[in-house]
Amino acid sequence: MSKAMESHSQGKTLMLESHTDLERGVIPASFGRSAFDVGPAARGKPRTQRSLAFDILKAVVVSFFLLNIPSIHWFHKNTADGTPSLSTQVRIGAIPPNETSEFCPQAAPLLPIKHADLVKKLDAVYCDEDYRLAAYKALSGAVQIPTESYDDLGPVGVDPRWDTFAKLHEYLEKTFPAVFSTLEVTKVNTYGIVLRWQGSDATLLPVLLTAHQDVVPVEPATAKDWIHPPYSGHYDGTWVWGRGSGDDKSDLIASLHAITALLEQGFTPTRTFVWAYGFDEEAAGTQGAGQLAVYLEKEYGANGFAALLDEGGSYGTPYGPSVIFATPSLAEKGYIDIRLEVSTPGGHSSRPPPHTGIGILAALLVALEAHPHDAALVRGGSAYNSTLCAAAYGPTFPEPLRRLAFKAAAGGGSNSDADADADRALEELKDALLAAYPANAALLRTTQAVDLVAGGVKVNALPELASAVVNHRIAQHDRVVGVQAHLAGVVRPLAAQFGLTVDAFGRAVPAGDGRGGHVRLSDAWGTALEPSPVTPTGAGDAYQVLAGTIKATLESARGYNASGVVVAPQLVLGNTDTRYYWALTKNIFRYKHLSEKDRFNGAHTINEAVRAEAWIESIRFYTRFILNFDEHL
Ligand SMILES: [Zn+2]
Repeated sequence: MSKAMESHSQGKTLMLESHTDLERGVIPASFGRSAFDVGPAARGKPRTQRSLAFDILKAVVVSFFLLNIPSIHWFHKNTADGTPSLSTQVRIGAIPPNETSEFCPQAAPLLPIKHADLVKKLDAVYCDEDYRLAAYKALSGAVQIPTESYDDLGPVGVDPRWDTFAKLHEYLEKTFPAVFSTLEVTKVNTYGIVLRWQGSDATLLPVLLTAHQDVVPVEPATAKDWIHPPYSGHYDGTWVWGRGSGDDKSDLIASLHAITALLEQGFTPTRTFVWAYGFDEEAAGTQGAGQLAVYLEKEYGANGFAALLDEGGSYGTPYGPSVIFATPSLAEKGYIDIRLEVSTPGGHSSRPPPHTGIGILAALLVALEAHPHDAALVRGGSAYNSTLCAAAYGPTFPEPLRRLAFKAAAGGGSNSDADADADRALEELKDALLAAYPANAALLRTTQAVDLVAGGVKVNALPELASAVVNHRIAQHDRVVGVQAHLAGVVRPLAAQFGLTVDAFGRAVPAGDGRGGHVRLSDAWGTALEPSPVTPTGAGDAYQVLAGTIKATLESARGYNASGVVVAPQLVLGNTDTRYYWALTKNIFRYKHLSEKDRFNGAHTINEAVRAEAWIESIRFYTRFILNFDEHL
């Protein structure tokens, strides 16, 4: 997943607030919108309380941008006598992360107060070399159990390949006896694990933490390419090697370590905490999280949890080493696999028509790739907000993009000249982002990938059926029905040309007369998923506790030498187990407290390994997460 481009901005108050009426008007109304107020109605909202002063000052702001003054950033700062000074209101480049930009508001680092001593004590425990080695050993042991999940697994109890999970359960119970004897343990669909740590105050909504027990299979042909065998769990003094060491036994084992450490210190929570460990996240999730979701909703009710933490975005230094950007995901893209089936008359290959069914299918696929979905940068959307975070705080974020970002943020949505200017800047920014970070195009558009193709049975028989499946990850601004309409629109003129009738998702679409055959578009496996709801980031929302916890954990880490931490929420391109959990809470966080540089290689490929010392940080993070959510939410 890309790191750089996404984020959020709450934009609740004006940048230059509360000093004079003039200043109150400096930053246009777009800054007063709610974080994800992205609908057309919101974009076109008429302004209120416009004053002449407002327009004059805005013109000044706009002309600054038009004059291409590099990277102007407006921020709230007074001179010694308390009056705002224009010279201090303009800054070149990024602002330091310990100042707050209204482009990307930051939570303060959050520390447990009631249990401040406990945190200190546990930090000392986590520094202890014996503790660390024992912790690595527990991770290594879990990696050694190859809990692979496959796309073609049958139901639990029918397909014997699930049996490996019983070994993992045995291992976890043996390795973390305090957890399994103290917390209430429930198994869902045999291999789903639910742990419940009862809090003393039953009126507080519980918090849910999740991780998955399964791993993607190791491609047998690549096993020899691993530096250490994929299920060795080898610790070489720096790295713990093996499939699952980073995804996601790292989270599974770190969370169990954190619970154990808290139990050993005699901590008892006020709020109830629940852990749910799925076991087929890397497949469809239907056997694990799908069933766990049913159980959890029955047990706790819809919106029965105060917050949910699953794996997801991490942290790193994409804009220079001095500022750490942590990127929890507050939303995920939608999903649909679309099957295109072309049925054509069969016959002998010695008298073929100009185009066989396979040729027609190929023409349809070529047309699809020639018509990618439109990229869009939408005010208030995840990609837009994260771009503003990068522009506000990223020292090496490209200056021309920074200029465009601030210019785009300075208005938009109305018919005024200034807003038209901001809207143009937004379009330019989108194009510039696509050019500067082509790998991040997936954040801005619905993606399509032709992944499966089949057709033909015999070399001397014309193919009667040819099909392909196209995978789509649906952008935040798009919907399943929009993707379906796009495909039907691309297919229709070609179908007319080839004389094919068209059935698009159960509806006949006018096209050819049928003499050439028939084309059918369908949701391949019935797994279409809309883009997820977006987690709120308001002042009283659980997000503030998460962001404060991330900051406090990073800023107190051993070896921390950055000038600050920016929490810049983003969009996750894939789907995690949380796709089943939307009904459980609106506060869903997808975040793994592990930097990319602390993983030896990318996800789902050879040489998966995690830097052992850095992984201890995820135990520290879980500890603070539990204590902070117990005390501060
Ligand atoms: Zn994972």
